[in-house]
Amino acid sequence: MIYLDNAATTFPKPACVAQDVAACLRGFGVNPGRGGYRLSARAGEAVFETRALLAALFEGTPERVIWTKNCTEAINIVLKGTLQPGDHVIISSLEHNAVLRPLERLRQENGVQYDVADVCPADPGQTVENFAALIRPGTRLIFCTQVSNVFGTVLPVRALGALAAQHGLRFGVDAAQGAGTEPISLRRDGVDYLCVPGHKGLFGPMGTGALLLGKDVDVLPLTEGGTGSFSLSADQPQDYPDRLESGTLNLPGIVGLRAGLRCLRRVGMDAVRQHEQTLVRLLKEDLSVIPNVRLFDAMHTNGAGTLLSLTVGNAHSEQTAALLDDSGFAVRAGYHCAMLAHTRHGTADAGTVRVSPGVFNTVPQIKNFIFCLNKIALGRKVC
Ligand code: PLP
Repeated sequence: MIYLDNAATTFPKPACVAQDVAACLRGFGVNPGRGGYRLSARAGEAVFETRALLAALFEGTPERVIWTKNCTEAINIVLKGTLQPGDHVIISSLEHNAVLRPLERLRQENGVQYDVADVCPADPGQTVENFAALIRPGTRLIFCTQVSNVFGTVLPVRALGALAAQHGLRFGVDAAQGAGTEPISLRRDGVDYLCVPGHKGLFGPMGTGALLLGKDVDVLPLTEGGTGSFSLSADQPQDYPDRLESGTLNLPGIVGLRAGLRCLRRVGMDAVRQHEQTLVRLLKEDLSVIPNVRLFDAMHTNGAGTLLSLTVGNAHSEQTAALLDDSGFAVRAGYHCAMLAHTRHGTADAGTVRVSPGVFNTVPQIKNFIFCLNKIALGRKVC
């Protein structure tokens, strides 16, 4: 099986991730920072080191790195912990349901309003203008994805951060697809809330994610409880990260994420991105000459992407993906939890087949994929 679904979660993980998770479970899998004993302190150190690595990667502050179980949870904490009735939010036309659904619930039940700005992949300036045109009295937040999980479009995050700052708005980014491949910085890009999964481009285990907070923002907790601090008070601590982190942490996951982050640092984000772009470029070049295959590479920013959406003839994307599965390729098809992206960009009928190579994929594997897709496009069921 050749795995080409790295946008869902990276697989396999670097060997050091599994090794470190096992070493943690065997050697120091105790509650971090809660006990007054050495093993607990060691667990606490591992948690702090991982916070520091994340803070360094995204130019934030370790104390303002909040652990979550995935990117979705981080997004929910931001939206539900900051928006008030009457507040207005602007999101992009490429948002994942992780953004759309909590906002829709806030709209229906809490009087929050939102508008959708169209993304123009070929014209980032126009994208920013589309956001600017929707700002009105009551607008509090611009929230957008860094990279589309359907088309691989990279949004002009820095310009949107500047727009938000110019109008005194908060700026949040869903970096589910960008974290680990596209640089982003809280400081440089004016990001107030950065939501990241640990299990995709940062190579951590599933069940890991984080919310990184800018230095002067406050978020109300979604969950209160034990934090290992101020235990004689009935009130939730006000300091970060404790304010937003109640209950036992996913220590083995965080330790695995630490290994993933160290690995990413060794290999380098630029090298990972360039490798994935090279494989996607190869896919584009070779698949563009097959008559029955439609590529959505026009959605790529500056002609480059780290994933590619396509369809074959009139077949539903799920059918094509099933044939690819029978031929030994794991790709994701359908709507990728991104209703807005498909309805606003014309792919809601058949969905798309999404091919998302990762750092462990090779040129021969991609050549093999192209060979098989060609056969499928010619009507042969399985290659
Ligand atoms: N946002 C985008 C753009 C995504 O691609 C995904 C997952 O694929 C998510 C949010 C949700 O991430 P998670 O599965 O870590 O909650």
